[in-house]
Amino acid sequence: MSNLGQIFGANVFNAAIMKERLPKGTYKALKKTIEEGLHLDPAVADVVASAMKDWALEQGATHFTHWFQPMTGITAEKHDSFISPTADGKVIMEFSGKELIKGEPDASSFPSGGLRATFEARGYTAWDCTSPAFIKDGSLCIPTAFCSYTGEALDKKTPLLRSMEALSKQALRVLKALGNTTTNKVITTVGPEQEYFIVDKNTFAQRKDLIFTGRTLFGAKPPKGQELEDHYFGSLKERISSYMKELDEELWKLGISAKTKHNEVAPAQHELAPIFTTTNIATDHNQLTMDTMKKVALRHDLVCLLHEKPFAGINGSGKHNNWSMGTDDGLNLLEPGHTPHDNEQFLVFLCSVIKAVDVYADLLRVSAANPGNDHRLGANEAPPAIISIFLGEQLQDILEQIENGGATSSKTGGQMEIGVTTLPALPKDATDRNRTSPFAFTGNKFEFRMVPSSASIAEPNYILNTIVAEVLNEVADRLESAKDIKAEVKTILSEYVTKHKNVVFNGNGYADEWVAEADKRGLPNIKTTVESIKALIAEKNLAVMEKHGVLSRVEMESRYEILLENYIKTINIEALTMIEMAKREILPAVIKFATNLAGSINTIKATGVAADVTAQTELLTEVSSLTAALKKNIAVLEEAVAKADNAHGDTYAQAALFRFDVFEKMSPLREVADTLETLVDKEVWPFPTYGDLLFNV
Ligand code: ADP
Ligand code: MG
Repeated sequence: MSNLGQIFGANVFNAAIMKERLPKGTYKALKKTIEEGLHLDPAVADVVASAMKDWALEQGATHFTHWFQPMTGITAEKHDSFISPTADGKVIMEFSGKELIKGEPDASSFPSGGLRATFEARGYTAWDCTSPAFIKDGSLCIPTAFCSYTGEALDKKTPLLRSMEALSKQALRVLKALGNTTTNKVITTVGPEQEYFIVDKNTFAQRKDLIFTGRTLFGAKPPKGQELEDHYFGSLKERISSYMKELDEELWKLGISAKTKHNEVAPAQHELAPIFTTTNIATDHNQLTMDTMKKVALRHDLVCLLHEKPFAGINGSGKHNNWSMGTDDGLNLLEPGHTPHDNEQFLVFLCSVIKAVDVYADLLRVSAANPGNDHRLGANEAPPAIISIFLGEQLQDILEQIENGGATSSKTGGQMEIGVTTLPALPKDATDRNRTSPFAFTGNKFEFRMVPSSASIAEPNYILNTIVAEVLNEVADRLESAKDIKAEVKTILSEYVTKHKNVVFNGNGYADEWVAEADKRGLPNIKTTVESIKALIAEKNLAVMEKHGVLSRVEMESRYEILLENYIKTINIEALTMIEMAKREILPAVIKFATNLAGSINTIKATGVAADVTAQTELLTEVSSLTAALKKNIAVLEEAVAKADNAHGDTYAQAALFRFDVFEKMSPLREVADTLETLVDKEVWPFPTYGDLLFNV
């Protein structure tokens, strides 16, 4: 592959292909549906399906599939071939509008959180024409939403699409009230930066924990970790570079605008960022990116780890969700311009986001919660579990002015002095960066940094869209009934700043003082996934999601159940994997080592030589007592798992048992095993060490 221009989007049934292949009227009708959200005429679907099929067959595809995003967090697909037998024993290729629009996968084995019993297995997939179809593995993939027979969302795309409509509706009202007459639609945009680890496939294959859980459950700290900070932005090793090159090409073919790639802070850690697009397409693309990352890695005898914390002691992975709102006529609503203090529209949208984040911090927190992320949030590398907003010096100053009666000036960045005359003079940004904030304003967008690396970005985005829609709704109501718009804007801004400035924090989010300060300010500090899940059934949150038609009460409750169940299952698998590795791999290895030592002591003594065997004896004593502790800790963990497993009834109580009993008992077991690893012969240790995993690609 050489010509980037040619390969980009080669596997996508995009607007250009549609324009080329669809009759003019059909193309126009479809475009109207995509851009204006109008209902699609079934006759149009037939024509589109036929063109799609012809195009897909030309590209060598043999099957089609509705591609959807059930609550598992990954994507699902069931492939049907295009063939249809004819009377003369041959086949013709068929694909109708009906097949394009609607699919009916058996929904019984997807998580539904009680929305649907297994005997009511019907589920439907519905074509999302706003995200283009593409070819993957010889199949034409049609992005779809997935819902139950009774119309409840069983997926992550449906609420996302609903939230985009909700935000557009309210943002438009605000724009109109502010005098904007040219905008017809507001679009939420996102560019997710994706972090990941790469390890060697053979090394990976020897670790049951990585295979079953995606993270290492054992492993002593290697002599070198990330302390030299020599990996961040370091030159790419050849194996990694050729992996990244192929990954980029595969993504480009799928129309994913992979833009930036670099080494990350931890050894073996990397990042990829695409150019932003609508929250819907970006979510689809991020799912495809994760899928492609894993597949391409295997071709290079590598394995891509997307877990939030594959290794203890070094940084984990996240996703930076760069979010903004834009208009169909090209405005970025979070663009401050040169003089933000007199940019009324910008300030209204900015302060609405601030209020939304403050009032619904608990919803945002749960949107970024998963078992893996519990190892990061608040653990001195990722943002803390406390939601706060970084605005930077310039906006902070403007907010203070607003609070004191009105903003009249904006601080500027000026020029940067490097002190070398031959270097160009650089204009300075009005604000420095802050890497420790979970929700940072970065020039013309907000960067939500809590998002877990392995998770779909649908949740954080539909939550963001909805809570901001809610505040914009309130602003619109007030502006529409105001006599003096300018005065009302001023009142709203001053009120929002005064009431919600508590959520703004420009300092070091990793410092202990911040935890204390946040507590004083009354900001929630929800430390674990299990506790965060409660937000899904809090009345104010149920109400806001229902009001904007994003998730009904029943749908929210089902998500509450699903997240708890997922937590229970994840920790259960981790604990069982630990027990299995400890019992069947570590114990036998250390016993063998001790037996060898004992044999050596006996053999030396038997020679009659007065040799000093205290080293062997001491080591034997130490290893033996640690082995006994290991055995004991295994039993303790087994007991906790059995107890939690049997705690049926209340899902929340069971999840809490897994978090506060089972999970807690995993650490002591690990600690003993990791100490043993540092004492015994490398040859007898049953699986590759951190050193082997992190430094051999
Ligand atoms: P960082 O300096 O945080 O590593 P990157 O340049 O790697 O930033 O990523 C920034 C991301 O933000 C990119 O995906 C970029 O496309 C995205 N982005 C830029 N402008 C917007 C916007 N208006 N809306 C959403 N995302 C945006
Ligand atoms: Mg970033």
